[in-house]
Amino acid sequence: MMRLKLRIAGYTKESVVDGPGIRFVVYAQGCPHRCEGCHNPETWDFGGGKEISEDDLVSLISDTRLLNGVTFSGGEPISQAKEFASLAKRVKSLGLDIVTYTGYTFEELLEMSIKDIHIKRLLENTDLLVDGPYLASERDLSVPFRGSRNQRLIDVVKWKSENRMSDTD
Ligand code: SF4
Repeated sequence: MMRLKLRIAGYTKESVVDGPGIRFVVYAQGCPHRCEGCHNPETWDFGGGKEISEDDLVSLISDTRLLNGVTFSGGEPISQAKEFASLAKRVKSLGLDIVTYTGYTFEELLEMSIKDIHIKRLLENTDLLVDGPYLASERDLSVPFRGSRNQRLIDVVKWKSENRMSDTD
């Protein structure tokens, strides 16, 4: 089997601001949204950052003690849905949960997931989704884990139990 590689801007081993509890954060490199006022424009270039193998990331995550979960942030993780979906599955098997940040809305992702099995898999393995682009006009640092008021915290696990989303495998 080919070893999967992810293109990342970097990672943080222990963060308390990117979702509930203590979290390992992986920052995807590459973002198509180009939000005005983005705090990380250096993550936009799909050729920037560095490559890291999924195996190396899984080792780094499993070597970090006391984690509640792993957060995928950006850049745009959805642009590497295949790679992040695969990583998410391995992270879940370690007993950790997944928070995914995306510049797409949840509705857009559901639509995209009809045609893209990897986006579907990434959603299936996401516990909490923080959706929508960063809007400078909606900037509000008092909303937990978000940068602007338009972004929502979506409990994907609850949504799945209330709506029929069939598991892929
Ligand atoms: S989605 Fe995030 S990383 Fe991408 S441009 Fe918007 S704020 Fe920046």
